[in-house]
Amino acid sequence: MLLSGKKGLIVGVANKRSIAWAIAQACQDNGARLAFSYQNERLGENVKELTAELSGALNFQMDVTDDAQVKTGFEFLEKEFGQLDFLVHAVAYAPRQALEGDFVSTSREDFRVALDVSAYSLPVLAHAAKPLMKEGGSIVTLSYLGAERVMPNYNVMGVAKAALESSVRYLASDLGQLGIRVNALSAGPIKTLASSGIGGFSTILDHHRSKAPLRKLVELEEVADGALFLLCPMGRGVTGQTIYVDGGYNIMAI
Ligand code: NAD
Repeated sequence: MLLSGKKGLIVGVANKRSIAWAIAQACQDNGARLAFSYQNERLGENVKELTAELSGALNFQMDVTDDAQVKTGFEFLEKEFGQLDFLVHAVAYAPRQALEGDFVSTSREDFRVALDVSAYSLPVLAHAAKPLMKEGGSIVTLSYLGAERVMPNYNVMGVAKAALESSVRYLASDLGQLGIRVNALSAGPIKTLASSGIGGFSTILDHHRSKAPLRKLVELEEVADGALFLLCPMGRGVTGQTIYVDGGYNIMAI
């Protein structure tokens, strides 16, 4: 019961294979009360169905690129929860054509969209969450090794993840004095809705399975446990970090 009595917002559940859903289950199992935001009505149906079994869960629509929806969403959260203890940011998107072929051909618009949804949304949500984190808090976002190394076809999403990881450090510096910690969890590759948009993703999975020190793909539950550590008091001394839950893949040169 590592999160007993804590209230958290989970942003980024699309379906039962979402990393955010695995994290939500770990939080729920550890005593947290949860709110879920969904991107649009269509995904909202999935979220409502999944969360129906959770006691006291809240749901609301919040497209992270829409300032009005973010404002309304957090007003709703303040009314219902009064306070927020943690926030899980598991959101990313880039237009499909930007996730195949050369990075050098990325259009201005595709670059803008990828960075807006996948990186700028973190400071936006941290800003909205700050007044609700009255007794401090923990914010965790999801990143990927493509932030630092070149992954085939990951392209502009790698640039967005680099901006995301840098945002984690700046936010950690801003919010630390309020007792709010901000960290990124860099997960190994997992088959999800978002990753299915990356060209040649099955090759990345095969390479990971054969080269990672643990010689297997990372499991959703392993990522969820890593997030739980950062969200709960066990991670109280950790902020501004990118922590890898990738079976050690990131240490390998070839
Ligand atoms: P997913 O498709 O289940 O989740 C992505 C979520 O982003 C979806 O819920 C989608 O609705 C949401 N989203 C996209 N645009 C949005 C917007 N404008 N407003 C609100 N929400 C929006 O896939 P996932 O793999 O679970 O992705 C979650 C996070 O994990 C992402 O940041 C992803 O980059 C990261 N990640 C994934 C992997 C992987 O291999 N799957 C590895 C490392 C990191």
